[in-house]
Amino acid sequence: MSTPAASDVVIVGAGPAGSALAYFLAAAGRSVRLLDKAAFPRDKTCGDGLSPRALRVLERLGALDEVLAAGFRIRRLKLFAPDGGWFEAPIPAHQGLADYAVVLPRFQLDDLIRRRAVAAGAEFQRVTVSDVLRDSAGQVTGVRAGPAEFRAPVTVLATGAATALLERAGLAPAQPALGRAARTYFTDLPGLADAVEFHFDSVPLPGYGWVFPTSPTSANVGAGYFVRAGGRAPHASPRQTYDAFVANPYVAGLLAGAQPAAPVKGFPLRVDFPAARLAAPGLCLVGEACGLVNPLTGEGVDYALESAEVAAETILAGLRAGRPAELAAAHTRALRGRFLRGFVNVGRVRDLYLQPWVLNRFVRVAQRDEGLKLRLINIALGNLDPLSALTPGTLWRVLRG
Ligand SMILES: Cc1cc2nc3c(=O)[nH]c(=O)nc-3n(C[C@H](O)[C@H](O)[C@H](O)COP(=O)(O)OP(=O)(O)OC[C@H]3O[C@@H](n4cnc5c(N)ncnc54)[C@H](O)[C@@H]3O)c2cc1C
Repeated sequence: MSTPAASDVVIVGAGPAGSALAYFLAAAGRSVRLLDKAAFPRDKTCGDGLSPRALRVLERLGALDEVLAAGFRIRRLKLFAPDGGWFEAPIPAHQGLADYAVVLPRFQLDDLIRRRAVAAGAEFQRVTVSDVLRDSAGQVTGVRAGPAEFRAPVTVLATGAATALLERAGLAPAQPALGRAARTYFTDLPGLADAVEFHFDSVPLPGYGWVFPTSPTSANVGAGYFVRAGGRAPHASPRQTYDAFVANPYVAGLLAGAQPAAPVKGFPLRVDFPAARLAAPGLCLVGEACGLVNPLTGEGVDYALESAEVAAETILAGLRAGRPAELAAAHTRALRGRFLRGFVNVGRVRDLYLQPWVLNRFVRVAQRDEGLKLRLINIALGNLDPLSALTPGTLWRVLRG
């Protein structure tokens, strides 16, 4: 077996979570190995939307200028109810966050973040990791990739929605993927503005379809659904969900004359953070490997980046204290402290409110109520906890229609 020199941290997965973590640790002077099975740049099936929260972490990674230069700036958000009613509102500057979002294909975004990590000193290697390594006490001491072993006092899995390695590590999610979505790209689209569209019409609920412009004449278009806790998945496949969405007269009109620029691709989403196991001795999980995808909106890049930032602090403190074995509990505490309440509340609200008649009334009232519009946009961007943002008084007013 070949055994490269041990590093402080070995990270599996160079998506936004793994590469951002590699950047923060390497920039703090730690030796980091970043491993991925893919040759970069590589595609990741995604809507490519970057929320203002994602942009805040990208700025801390020193990547914002490049993201803004390569991506398409979004100033407004449109929300369509199941009955076709809709409203539009500008993205608000919430608590110092940018008053815009960006759409940037993951083919570019992920390589850009990975290159930031490498520039900060992380060593990237293309390998497929097959298992974790353990010592006689069961503590994880690194990973195996073919004949090679990569050892480190701290191992991180940032492997996204793929669960094979989590199963090997004994941290498999209790439930399989809880969302499914499919998307493609279109070019030659006339009349696109700087607005992203979220559609609750023509899709199974909870779920939504989207049109996210990647330029004034091209867009990422997709649709997907979530499975209610304890519920059954809709019979429709992600592809059938996508086909029904693009056949809706409004979307079909938008796409008339447009050219499909890529095959339609489907992918699962893990939105099970509240039930996910986040660490084991010597091992931490970040990003979607922790189920950190918003169960209302499917946004996961922002949580991937934010969880990397939280994890970097915990890991650096553990390494400084010379007690990496105690990291598992600290990492779990830190991630739950930051994200658990919000995820539980979003899950509750989603199952309660994503009913056609409720959504129709919300949109109808928001058309004439700027305050409600603002709150709904902030909830959709993951800026506000929906339970505290929608007071009983608001609900009463909305339900009265
Ligand atoms: C259709 C769809 C649309 C979406 N739209 C949006 C959106 O618009 N905005 C948004 O914010 N989020 C969106 N998401 C969610 C978002 O794509 C994910 O949450 C995000 O990619 C998670 O980042 P990550 O770094 O945790 O994992 P990933 O980006 O999935 O990266 C994981 C990496 O691990 C590597 N890997 C896995 N296993 C191994 C192994 N054994 N050995 C080596 N390498 C391995 C993979 O090659 C990959 O590069 C969408 C998801 C889907 C499916």
